[in-house]
Amino acid sequence: MSSRSVVGVRQYSSGMGNGTSPTTLVAPAAGEAGGTLVAALSPSRAGDFMQCPLLYRFRVVDRIPERPSPVAVRGTVVHAVLERLFDLPAGRRTLEAAGLLLAPQWERIRQESPELDALFDGDPAALADWLASAQDLLARWFAMEDPTRLEPTDREVYVETRLDDGLLLRGYVDRIDVSTDGRVRIVDYKTGRAPSEYTEAKAMFQMRFYALVLWRLRGRLPSQLQLVYLGSGEILRYDPEECDLLATERKIKALWAAIERAARTGDWRPSPSRMCEWCDHHALCPAQGGVPPPLPEDALLRVGGPSASHPQLPGLDEDG
Ligand code: SF4
Repeated sequence: MSSRSVVGVRQYSSGMGNGTSPTTLVAPAAGEAGGTLVAALSPSRAGDFMQCPLLYRFRVVDRIPERPSPVAVRGTVVHAVLERLFDLPAGRRTLEAAGLLLAPQWERIRQESPELDALFDGDPAALADWLASAQDLLARWFAMEDPTRLEPTDREVYVETRLDDGLLLRGYVDRIDVSTDGRVRIVDYKTGRAPSEYTEAKAMFQMRFYALVLWRLRGRLPSQLQLVYLGSGEILRYDPEECDLLATERKIKALWAAIERAARTGDWRPSPSRMCEWCDHHALCPAQGGVPPPLPEDALLRVGGPSASHPQLPGLDEDG
């Protein structure tokens, strides 16, 4: 199916703006669904529900804030650097230039989110180590891609489209490259390690989601989806076909139907897995001996909205 190598490229095969204000690509407004339950979904929230319906509830319905982790915030900072690097003329997009963006971008994000002050409070050595680890991620990216040869048409671009049943699909795409003959490549940076070959389909679901949105938005099938893993120096590529994206659309609709059912019945079941290790909500989870809070009175209104710690903002919705 694919080959794996460090600083390598893996071809996935399937069985079937900039500045502080991101640009947007959106479909014409068609009105919200019914004034009760807002039908909207992003790839990250879809992933939450697939992992654990109760986690989705805690994030989207209860909107319980989660503790920021150094790894997740580092992902946000690295995303910001990779976005802004392309503001420079091609010849000046060097690793050194990227490194010089790290501290200012951390400072900007810290000022926008004062709760991040606690991350390295009074520990300059820990901050220095953390920034050095971010620099290592940038170095790995430069070993995989050459920004002097890339001219993205969009960076951190907000995209949304509405399916025929009214469901709004939305999210932020890290980068869109368009070749001279019009072929579109969707690129997403991950600061973690590449998934195993057994779980890469799950990782590629997010990219198919974005491909579906862009296809519906622009009327042309994206040619390539590319996940760039800075943690392990691997690239996962996939050339989508129309039947793949139609299957993705069916899967998203089925997923939304399940979310809507959970919302209307209040039955948000925990789904324990090894991912629970990274979940912030053990004290509220029955699977961990906890007790969930009462559902908010406006729970239905919240179901398609953003979450407290995972708003639909560029970089903040990433895996770190
Ligand atoms: S601890 Fe596990 S089962 Fe419980 S909400 Fe979190 S992810 Fe779900």
